[in-house]
Amino acid sequence: MKSHLTALALAAGLITQETAAQDLSKAEEFAARGVAAALNDYPGYASLCNLETRIRNVNLPRDQRARPSADGHAHGDQGSRPQRKDRPAPLRIPPTQVFDNLWFLGMASTTTWLYGTEDGYVLIDGLNTDAEAQEYVLDGMTEAGLDTSAIKAILVTHGHGDHYGGADYLSETLGVEILMTQEDWDLVATLGDHPRFGPPPAKGGTVQDGEVLRFGTSEIQIHVTPGHTPGTVSPVFELFDGDTRHAAMLWGGTGFNFGPDPEIFRSYAASAQKMRRISKNMGVDVFLSGHPGRDGTVHLLDTLKDRTPGGPHPFVRGASGYALFDVLENCALAQAARFEAVPSE
Ligand SMILES: [Zn+2]
Repeated sequence: MKSHLTALALAAGLITQETAAQDLSKAEEFAARGVAAALNDYPGYASLCNLETRIRNVNLPRDQRARPSADGHAHGDQGSRPQRKDRPAPLRIPPTQVFDNLWFLGMASTTTWLYGTEDGYVLIDGLNTDAEAQEYVLDGMTEAGLDTSAIKAILVTHGHGDHYGGADYLSETLGVEILMTQEDWDLVATLGDHPRFGPPPAKGGTVQDGEVLRFGTSEIQIHVTPGHTPGTVSPVFELFDGDTRHAAMLWGGTGFNFGPDPEIFRSYAASAQKMRRISKNMGVDVFLSGHPGRDGTVHLLDTLKDRTPGGPHPFVRGASGYALFDVLENCALAQAARFEAVPSE
């Protein structure tokens, strides 16, 4: 690894021998810490520490994204990517009640979480497409015996199509508002139409850092965690399992697909630090995300089926769940150090 990156950087005249050795060893050190933290609870996140992987930037409009060609050189998008007709059928996960006031409605790749408040439901994220929103959210709720007309709002964690693709359909069908940060409303306005996700939502309400959304006596804390996108939201909310109270933190943006920019990686790492602190203060013991295949949620859903009445709840990770922040922070710092050593690849 080191020799490959070092050779690139030295060949490009970007660094001296000494700087390269220092910065890349720093990157490797952070990566080793991140991978070690991922081992037990979050193996699906370990690849974030891969210092060889190409970091694309999906926060740019499609026609401005650099994409390597067959000869290895980056060039602009030459039109839309070939349609992936061979895309495997998504793993069908039935709608699942995870806590007294939380349901999983989605797929392994991306999901909608349905949060039950005193004053109706709040959807968190809206899947890739209108058809998925119909199948997994609306039909899923009917299958689970839940009333779709009790949905009050749709919180979109960030402005990427796999989270907003079906949100506008749900918003129109249900007559409820989409909520997103202003930063990510601005982002989706620049991204435009997408062959898979369709047009981004055009309007809705805004949420901001530190805001508390209230539905009756229920609350959803809004925490803005820049990095994955400029205005990613990682909400915190209460859960109930019978008489036992828990608190959940949903990490709003996962992948490193915002370009090889050390500054953005550092802001991602700072967001992980911030949410570690907030989560500890709030007594968070349940750690969720929008990508269930990646953070172990699919496995936990499977385990939940075999839970004995009154037995331990598989989603309550407790103290070991905090390894999440160590993975996210260290992998982001590893990539920051990598791209400080080799500013462009
Ligand atoms: Zn995203």
